Amino acid sequence: MALLVVLASFASGVLAQTPKKPDPKTKPPVGKGLASKPAPPPPPPPIAKELEEEVASIAAATGARLSASEHPVFDCASSLSRDETLIVVDGAEKAFAVFKEISGVSGPAEMFGIKKPLLVILPGAESYKKLGYWYEKAKGRPGMGDAVANSTYFPFDSPRCLIGMHLKPSDAVGLAHVAAHETGHLCVQRYKFNSNYSPPWLCEGMGAYLEARVFGITNCYCFSPGGAQRYGAADAGAVLEKLSDLQFAKWKTAVKAAAKSRQLKTFANFIPLQLSELGAGEVGKAWSMIDYMASLGPGKVGAFIGAVKRLWPAAVVYEHTPAKTAAQEKAILEVFGVEVAGFEEQWRAYVMAKY
Ligand SMILES: [Zn+2]
Repeated sequence: MALLVVLASFASGVLAQTPKKPDPKTKPPVGKGLASKPAPPPPPPPIAKELEEEVASIAAATGARLSASEHPVFDCASSLSRDETLIVVDGAEKAFAVFKEISGVSGPAEMFGIKKPLLVILPGAESYKKLGYWYEKAKGRPGMGDAVANSTYFPFDSPRCLIGMHLKPSDAVGLAHVAAHETGHLCVQRYKFNSNYSPPWLCEGMGAYLEARVFGITNCYCFSPGGAQRYGAADAGAVLEKLSDLQFAKWKTAVKAAAKSRQLKTFANFIPLQLSELGAGEVGKAWSMIDYMASLGPGKVGAFIGAVKRLWPAAVVYEHTPAKTAAQEKAILEVFGVEVAGFEEQWRAYVMAKY
């Protein structure tokens, strides 16, 4: 620490000196001397005690070595180096900024409360599987352990907002995509929170939309046609191999062609689908619906999600019900002033003109 202080004051002393005129006869030393060395990075700011304790509790339960860090929207518990952690966190922070823009939400506190959502980056599947059981016990959510054990990443919406993920077989850049995508799920689940299930097309569409807006490429999918719902299910699956590192522009072209030839399921037909029943076509329609809503003005996407939550049936049921379709149809009429079929034709015209 003392050395850091000395170096820092020496470096700032060097910078403060009046620059001398260079002597053309003497070559400046290459890669040598203190002046050419970058100043040492400042030490990380102190971490809130509550976060330190929570991260220590997760580390103890998962057996992973984790460092806590605080960021504008998210907190982080990471097994990565500080620089790599920043790459992952940046994906989530940027995704939230896009959601803020399209939803009109005032800020993270409106959605998450006083505690920032926590990104947990674990080193591998073994420690990751223990995260759900820690959550189940520490946060009183039975069943979370088994649900998480069957995935490679997971958005926990309540009572503690948290995104869990692990490094195998990914890396910091891959996890930045996961962080942006899962932020999409967390945003749909938490915005105007109703403590009930959110429409799967909207959750998955928002994940893909935010990831595409942040990176221009999508690489993270939860849906696996024919398989069980599993966050991260498609990442390792050859079924969707053609979807890895998919350029957003390319996906737009495909959606445009499908919209033109009316190959895609109608909105009314894909509203009832569960995550496990969504395919690339439906997800392309889902994010392009969100994109169209966003094009109608700032806050329109938020107004739609808010109306869906307000009109949502009170019964907490995982499966789709007709009341869930009715809530979404009413929300479209209320926010956009047209019936679903009319809204769908507007979407088609937008996609064909813009994509
Ligand atoms: Zn997803």
